[in-house]
Amino acid sequence: QHVDRKTYRIAAIPGDGIGNEVMTEGLKVMRAAAARFDIDLDFVSFDWANCDYFLKTGSMMPANWKDLLTGFDSIYFGAVGWPDKVPDHISLWGSLLKFRREFDQYINLRPVRLFEGVPCPLAHKKPGDIDFIVVRENTEGEYTSLGGKMFEDTDREFVIQESIFSRIGTDRVLKFAFELAQSRARRRLTVATKSNGIAISMPYWDERAHAMGERFPEVAVDLQHIDILAARFVLQPDRFDVVVASNLFGDILSDLGPACAGTIGLAPSANLNPERLFPSLFEPVHGSAPDISGRNIANPIAMIWSGALMLNFFGETAGHQRKNFREAHDAVLLAIEQVLRNGPRTPDLGGAASTSDMGDAIARLVSDGD
Ligand code: ATP
Ligand code: MG
Repeated sequence: QHVDRKTYRIAAIPGDGIGNEVMTEGLKVMRAAAARFDIDLDFVSFDWANCDYFLKTGSMMPANWKDLLTGFDSIYFGAVGWPDKVPDHISLWGSLLKFRREFDQYINLRPVRLFEGVPCPLAHKKPGDIDFIVVRENTEGEYTSLGGKMFEDTDREFVIQESIFSRIGTDRVLKFAFELAQSRARRRLTVATKSNGIAISMPYWDERAHAMGERFPEVAVDLQHIDILAARFVLQPDRFDVVVASNLFGDILSDLGPACAGTIGLAPSANLNPERLFPSLFEPVHGSAPDISGRNIANPIAMIWSGALMLNFFGETAGHQRKNFREAHDAVLLAIEQVLRNGPRTPDLGGAASTSDMGDAIARLVSDGD
């Protein structure tokens, strides 16, 4: 049946704090899905890219980290950071941000969904009203270190901060977003812009979006200025299907989106190198949460959902979606839905269950298929 059968190699990097606790549950569910849907996964755990490793060795990762990760299909990442021990700029820049940059993970994906059983901070919203995905450009745009300060300490002092929108960098994120929109039922793409205020980069972004749109006639495209777009996330989230944005705008929207759909413990993310030249990275949006770490009460769903995104990504090759990978993804999402509806629930969702209770329940549903 699967002629080109392949074993997918996954580097499991738990990191700090609750990263370790949610990793255990994530692996449990991935293994259950792999067994049921006939997928071969090979996990290797790495005990670096965490703050204890930094305190022992003076760096977050071994010098040959890149070699150690070459040949892996993906990185399954818990969370990194322990501000009381190591400043965040060291722990983050020394690990996660190196992966993103060195592995050219130029797409940051964040699906946003409102589930039954999860209190929504927005009034009058039902499950189904919020179901969209934010595609953030992850490598260029507004986040550069180009610029500088002039006339320092005089009354003429000023700074300049440059943005970069390369044609390749802009087109590749737009193309990814159009393809994603095309593959979904609603086929709607919202392009975040601010060409009424930012005079050079955003009109260029719009121009590239229009050009890309011509290649995707079935996708309904809608350019919206970031200010009104952010307001609509809150007021009319049902308008959105796929939303694509530059690095800065995407950063903001990809926190606003999950915030509109409830607890941070649910939000997954994928950092993708779609060409598969390098490993992609799948991680929960939340951090290491030192305040609840070690107590077996963290919500493991963000980590588990991130694993489902990984399976889905493995299944998409050469423009073709393999059925069993899609089914594995959908089975994990269905199990998450059922557990959110019926319990067990961790304390952040108003329940009294442990991290492992919730992981066990999801893994069981994935294995049994209802
Ligand atoms: P980052 O590391 O991304 O900068 P942060 O350190 O600001 O994030 P988090 O570590 O995500 O923040 O924690 C923010 C709050 O959310 C904390 O009170 C934490 O306990 C809670 N929290 C985070 N993740 C979870 C989870 N999976 N389950 C329950 N509560 C969580
Ligand atoms: Mg943190």
